Amino acid sequence: MRLSKSFVPTLKEVPNDAVVKSHILMLRAGMVRMLSAGIYSFLPVGYRVIRKITEIIREEMNAIGGQEFHLPALNPREIWEETNRVESFGDILFHVKNRDYVLAPTHEEIMTYHARNVLKSYKELPQIWYQIQTKFRNEARPRSGVIRGRQFLMKDAYTFDATWEGLDIAYGYHDKAYRKIFDRCDLKYFVVGASSGAMGGTGSEEFMVKSDAGEDTVAYCEHCGYAANVEIAVSKVQGKKRESKSEDLKEISTPNVKSIDELCAFLKIDETQCAKSRVYIYDGKAVLILMLGNDEVNETKLEKVLGGTIRPAHPDELKEITGADAGSIGPIGFTGRIIADLRLKESNNLYSGANKNDFHIGGIDLSRDVKNIEYEDFRIVKSNENCIRCGSNLEVFTSIELGHIFKLGTKYSDSMKAMFLDENGKENPIIMGSYGIGVERVMACYIEQHNDERGMVWDKTLAPFHIHLIGLNMRKQEVIDATEKIYNELTKTGIEVLFDDRVDAQAGFKFNDADLLGMPVQVIVGDKKLKDGKVEVKIRKSGERFDVALNDLIGKVKELLV
Ligand code: ATP
Ligand code: MG
Repeated sequence: MRLSKSFVPTLKEVPNDAVVKSHILMLRAGMVRMLSAGIYSFLPVGYRVIRKITEIIREEMNAIGGQEFHLPALNPREIWEETNRVESFGDILFHVKNRDYVLAPTHEEIMTYHARNVLKSYKELPQIWYQIQTKFRNEARPRSGVIRGRQFLMKDAYTFDATWEGLDIAYGYHDKAYRKIFDRCDLKYFVVGASSGAMGGTGSEEFMVKSDAGEDTVAYCEHCGYAANVEIAVSKVQGKKRESKSEDLKEISTPNVKSIDELCAFLKIDETQCAKSRVYIYDGKAVLILMLGNDEVNETKLEKVLGGTIRPAHPDELKEITGADAGSIGPIGFTGRIIADLRLKESNNLYSGANKNDFHIGGIDLSRDVKNIEYEDFRIVKSNENCIRCGSNLEVFTSIELGHIFKLGTKYSDSMKAMFLDENGKENPIIMGSYGIGVERVMACYIEQHNDERGMVWDKTLAPFHIHLIGLNMRKQEVIDATEKIYNELTKTGIEVLFDDRVDAQAGFKFNDADLLGMPVQVIVGDKKLKDGKVEVKIRKSGERFDVALNDLIGKVKELLV
């Protein structure tokens, strides 16, 4: 492709509003442009990457026996009503005004619709059906560029089985195919199960990558692969050891001391001697939550413990319930239910608020002084705690979902009555799985993981082009002749070349564009080196540059692209 005749609108400046690295680079490299919030147009260079990703996905899906479909995005709403998902998707679903249609955010319903019309007997099972197709979701906060779009490309696959063992096999195929796809794309990923994962193996797994653009916080152990959303993650963090002698309770004046840090500084104690209190309202009643030191409450875990929705007590409620403001609350004298985190189990010699502003109490022995106290795990795990499985260091970071494999079971076949006759002539619901990959997310995450201060750094597999050929002075006939010859010869051997044949662009401008676009190998042709029969080659990733004789160029380029 010749840059002089192509639309590759590169930008020198970081565009307004773009904060995530991949988004900035995709805009700067002229790969995408925003049409409207969360809606992006792919321009020619960017679209080449999308095609390479979809080709890899296609190959791996076909390798496990997947059959490619292409379903309509415009769906009759009544089909979506069969599963009640018009309601459950709520505002995410785009409705089409002039008729009763919706724009599909996923395709379980439509695939199930086809399955129920054709898969009538166990003899027609199993099946793996997939497609690579546009989805529509009215995401509340579309940001981070194509990572969270309102229209995006998804590979979605659906499996149909007669038995639960069959579903396990189909799920296993997808697990393997997904690993191959992400490995081939050179992505560093990890797999998060839907349970806390200590034992591994669940009915649903998410393939995630570490990213500042992510909305999920996960705890991950590089050593053994333990990975869990912090909402359920656990660690081997130690509790507070019970000391042999319990001191007496003592009230201490602590003027203006509000936080655990202030309390520690004021009393010259360590945070592991403090019990921090929080009050939540559950089912109309106040519950006091105790945490060790600066631990934080994980509200999702706490809701599970309590069995329903909770909310923090408002400041005025706090005063009414405890007699004190947030920084001075504690278990002594609190009359409602008290639940302490497991790290505090049977601890003694603790400091906590006195339920009286500007006072704390020391010498608290939870076993002795707090009747009916309960202990549960509801803390948020932190980086550098020990992994629950192997004891190595945990890391806590935000991440983004690349793909999802899910054992649906009979959820959709039950509600949509997709039934088959088994060997005994008995009617059963088809057992299903669904499996998704976000195509643009694969691209954006690759860029997140492969860039430097100059731009993107592509590997041959996903690079829009293999070679960036730069003619330094395209007014000189010898440069024109040499670059045309190189371009034609490389192209003939199947190597994809982006040819910077622009006449008016300065050398520095061309170099910057080449580094920004990030093709793996640059071939730089100038009149000075041509005099010695040479051109310069630059490896984008390492920055290494060397001269190559014109006669050896094709061979050298092939060698570099292996
Ligand atoms: P998220 O939690 O990030 O919103 P999701 O759980 O809604 O993802 P699924 O419904 O499982 O995602 O969709 C399958 C895949 O489609 C995801 O793993 C992701 O790669 C991609 N995807 C989902 N929503 C978007 C979006 N708004 N923009 C781009 N890709 C998306
Ligand atoms: Mg979503």
